[in-house]
Amino acid sequence: MVVGKEKPKLIVNGKRVDGRAPEELRPVRMEVGVLKNADGSALVEYGNTKVLAAVYGPREVMPKHVALPDRAVIRCRYRMLSFSAEERKSPAPSRREIELSKVIREALEPAIMSELFPRTAIDIFIEVLNADGGTRTAGVTAASLALADAGIPLRDLVAGVAVGKVDGVLVLDINQIEDMYGEADMPVAAMPSLGRITLLQLNGVLTPDEFRQALALALYGIRKLYDLQKEALRRKYISTAEE
Ligand code: ADP
Repeated sequence: MVVGKEKPKLIVNGKRVDGRAPEELRPVRMEVGVLKNADGSALVEYGNTKVLAAVYGPREVMPKHVALPDRAVIRCRYRMLSFSAEERKSPAPSRREIELSKVIREALEPAIMSELFPRTAIDIFIEVLNADGGTRTAGVTAASLALADAGIPLRDLVAGVAVGKVDGVLVLDINQIEDMYGEADMPVAAMPSLGRITLLQLNGVLTPDEFRQALALALYGIRKLYDLQKEALRRKYISTAEE
């Protein structure tokens, strides 16, 4: 949300700034196994938001003292590349990036069977190539695909999407303009088959009723993204089997 700048109209004739209906996702692209040198990788696009995830591990922990005796230590680094935003972003890690690295790690941890790999590390890297809103949720979706691609046993895939309230209307998969000028934004991630929410943040104000509707809208989007994740994994493994 921004205060003080002139706010553009976010809903015109029932359509959003990019022509979408309120409950419509942006065009989604998912590709698994895009990096040769990572154990697992994935590229995810929600419209103009483009995120690359790479996973290394389970591997030896460096430094050794951070190893855990009963499970793998999971580390996550989220970064926005300096050319990913309209105004060049400083390459130094910002407080926002440090916080989002933690939020994304916590969204993924419940899915990872880390107890199978004591004294090892699983490292997750998320690079935002182009930012247009929803980078943390696209990051979770991409990282979960990269973990699966690395062959790390998961309880379920995790998919994420941000919903928002713009001009009084609840909308799915908000872009940067809707995030900036809307009344509220709420990123959500979940393990759909287990019915478990692993990330839920709310910036702005929603009534209890709006909150329930927003959550249902997010879970509807997450279901669709989950189906696309499974398709992307299938595509990768069918083409690998054919080679
Ligand atoms: P998310 O990307 O998960 O929605 P935010 O709500 O913090 O996270 O950011 C919303 C959007 O604002 C981002 O996707 C990006 O397009 C833009 N943005 C955030 N931080 C910066 C930054 N430091 N420089 C330029 N744009 C940014």
